[in-house]
Amino acid sequence: MSRVAYVNGRYLPHRAAAVHVEDRGFQFADGAYEVIAVHGGSFLDEGLHLTRLHRSLGELRIEPPMADAALKAVMREVVRRNRVRDGILYMQVTRGAAPRDFAFPKSRPSLVMTARNARPLDPKLLERGALVVTLPDIRWARPDIKSVALLPNALGKQRAKEAGAYEAWQVDRDGNVTEGTSSNAWIVTAKGEIVTRQADHAILNGVTRLGVIEVAGKAQMKVIERPFSVAEAKAAREAFITSTTNFIVPVTRIDDATVGDGKPGEITRRLRALYVEYAARQP
Ligand code: PMP
Repeated sequence: MSRVAYVNGRYLPHRAAAVHVEDRGFQFADGAYEVIAVHGGSFLDEGLHLTRLHRSLGELRIEPPMADAALKAVMREVVRRNRVRDGILYMQVTRGAAPRDFAFPKSRPSLVMTARNARPLDPKLLERGALVVTLPDIRWARPDIKSVALLPNALGKQRAKEAGAYEAWQVDRDGNVTEGTSSNAWIVTAKGEIVTRQADHAILNGVTRLGVIEVAGKAQMKVIERPFSVAEAKAAREAFITSTTNFIVPVTRIDDATVGDGKPGEITRRLRALYVEYAARQP
């Protein structure tokens, strides 16, 4: 089946879908995006994603391209036309197309959406756990904004790939892990406390991160939001990453260190099961 993309009011064949050469997303990475999981045909945590989109757009002073009701209708139409049941919807809003000038023009925001079914997660990854490598966080000072300026993330992911790793954890100047290139970073301490960095300006406040904090709390598991260093992570009992696309993936190696006993941890596995239930429960 041919794929369909939504571009500024039109549903187009994917291969013919394009934005203007002077779109500010293309020229300045002047835009924000969301990736929303489609689970059994419906959106997972749609409200949290739209709230985050509005926050990103507000921080960038980009007008929403349309009211939420209309946006939700387009989201559903893109999913329907692409026959997605389990996959992702990608949505990008930029400041729009205008003659190139750094200061904000009086442009109309651009809105693009695509959707696709996802490949199921490799079961080996859950059985064995992932390798992550660490590298300096070279991003700008506002990774809490889900901007399309993803070059450092792309460079980091490529470094991970070339090292045979699944993800790269970015490390700030104090030696603390900020987050992955496309996921949030977590550890479990010797005491069984679940630790992830507080949602400050240095990380994206992941929707999966928020869901995991919620399910952990309901299961009386202790979550602490604080920075942790690479050394603490290497010595942790367990580690894992969270993201919309893969929910929770255990981490069993960080650089040359084995995490815990080298197998996905018990708390990580329990949290994943709770999160899968949480996702299945949503209407
Ligand atoms: N951090 C970064 C840098 C990301 O790109 C992502 C995924 N978009 C996440 C964290 C995880 O966020 P979410 O759970 O909302 O997918």
